[in-house]
Amino acid sequence: MAIEKSEAIILRTLNFRDTSKILTAYTLDHGLVSLIAKGVRGPKPRFGSALEIFAHVDLVYYNKDSRDLQLLSQASLLEAHLGLASNLDRYRHACAVLEFLLKLLSGQEPPGKLYPLALRTLEVLEKAPVASLGSLFLAFQIKAVSFLGHRPELFSCISCRESLTEPVYFAPLHGGTVCDNCVVEVDGTRTITQSQLGFLQRLMKSTLAELFEDVPSSEFMADTRGIFELFLASQLDRYEPSRSLRQIPNRHALGLREALKAGDPLGN
Ligand SMILES: [Zn+2]
Repeated sequence: MAIEKSEAIILRTLNFRDTSKILTAYTLDHGLVSLIAKGVRGPKPRFGSALEIFAHVDLVYYNKDSRDLQLLSQASLLEAHLGLASNLDRYRHACAVLEFLLKLLSGQEPPGKLYPLALRTLEVLEKAPVASLGSLFLAFQIKAVSFLGHRPELFSCISCRESLTEPVYFAPLHGGTVCDNCVVEVDGTRTITQSQLGFLQRLMKSTLAELFEDVPSSEFMADTRGIFELFLASQLDRYEPSRSLRQIPNRHALGLREALKAGDPLGN
């Protein structure tokens, strides 16, 4: 049994028995780790907000590769991201980020660019203009899948590699854009407008802060998101559209902070 230390983002929490919690943490050094935190609830709660979802924390735990659940020893809070619970739209988009990470990560990820992106996205969702949250979440998804080896081709034809002129098509199954000359040879294509393509290109290339003013109409957003969802569904084995963005959390009547404290914000 080895003692491990890592900073982490808390993705999921579940109350266990009378005084314990089971946590899923995305650690900087070891990817996804499941932990049991014993005796942290009840009359003498320990670690406070460090064991809530969205929290950015430093963790110390006992690791044994032969078991699925590692034993938490220490947790100290670096940032609670409490602003994410101040507004339902911020909260739902931030939950969608955690949900996407839980689907995307297998537990074997080496340290890479995805962890800093996830942390930066939570920071940005806390303070960005509410109207830009949809663009920011889509940008997070495009960047995240790119870092994990599923970068969509948006700048040339996936078949002939030539640059794109109108009309342009998109082939979700083949991972990107197709030119007019090649469209007959590629299956499963659909049209994509220049403005939709330009939007996806900006999301891929821009920093998150550069997208604060990128606020398309909700109809444009829904159509473009639909195209990208087809890409995600055909490229990722475990992909499902976000539940957090589809559903109003059942426990919203409790108030967001109470739902957060209950550790079950989506009412699962
Ligand atoms: Zn082509």
